[in-house]
Amino acid sequence: MPPKNPHRPFTPDPELLSLLPTIKGNSINRLGSKTKARPEMVFWAPNPDDIEFGEVQKWFYKQEPPDPKLMAERQKRQEILATPLPDLAPEASQYTPDEWTSKLNQFVVAGDCERVGVAHMQPEWVYQHHETSYQNVIMLGVQHDYEKLKTAPDLIAGADVTRQYGRAARSAKKVASWLREHGWDAEPVTGPMVGKILMIPPAIECGFGELGKHGSLINPEYGSGFRLGAVLTDAPFATTPKRDWGIDDFCTRCKVCENACPPEAIKADKQMVRGTKKWYVNFDECIPFFAKTSGCAICIAVCPWTRPGVGENMIVKMARRAKRQEEKNQQPV
Ligand code: SF4
Ligand code: SF4
Repeated sequence: MPPKNPHRPFTPDPELLSLLPTIKGNSINRLGSKTKARPEMVFWAPNPDDIEFGEVQKWFYKQEPPDPKLMAERQKRQEILATPLPDLAPEASQYTPDEWTSKLNQFVVAGDCERVGVAHMQPEWVYQHHETSYQNVIMLGVQHDYEKLKTAPDLIAGADVTRQYGRAARSAKKVASWLREHGWDAEPVTGPMVGKILMIPPAIECGFGELGKHGSLINPEYGSGFRLGAVLTDAPFATTPKRDWGIDDFCTRCKVCENACPPEAIKADKQMVRGTKKWYVNFDECIPFFAKTSGCAICIAVCPWTRPGVGENMIVKMARRAKRQEEKNQQPV
């Protein structure tokens, strides 16, 4: 028996229901479509008036209590976003692709972010009605403070989400500034109002983790307790390899987030979305609780991989189990 869920049953706020558009978010995301297509922005638009769920996005912010710590973090993030990038240096530095990629580690060493990776841009990552000519995506990951995150959906976790988005934005701007000082144009992409590209697919492609049943990324070391930033550039970086730890398979047997999600938006099976069968959170069921709590985050907080130190042990155990199974399969019948 799963533990009793303190947030169930959940009844959506009537005011929010009155703001929902006639089109479903799942339709905008093309749930059930077998055709490959670029994504359409459903939430987190830089200008909420550009999207169907714009009124819900505005309502999300009205739910936040005016907490001084949260407001201070938000103010810091605004200052980071407003800082101009340096001019583009006239001479472009020349390094080998491997040298460029290894130089990114300086931002991890300096504590700006916890992870770096690089993927080649793929057209299906770019939102409809947006374009980019940049060839590479540098991904940056920043880790949550687990003690704060585990209080989700409380405000303490919400303030840490804002703080980590601020760190991700600062590191994206630092990387973009560094590239421009080396003569390579670069565009920082910062969440949550990303505006141009999806963040999770390039993060998976560059080896940050695997997609979990809760629709977020899972990294063996940080679990789902991290946020992403990105930098778009043509500087000739070597890509970092995609990795498979068996987390996707683990999710088929785990139900922790399914049981914890107040509106039961996390489903047991993968679904077809824009031509790919994958884990998918029911947007229309999630959004009333997500907006009411100004960001929820319960599913990423309860995921067993997020608890510090747990993921690396699980990887070792899973590798041992896979080896035993392989040896068993090789025995003559
Ligand atoms: S963020 Fe959405 S999917 Fe995750 S637990 Fe909250 S309501 Fe459920
Ligand atoms: S809680 Fe379990 S099922 Fe959900 S994402 Fe984490 S590992 Fe996967």
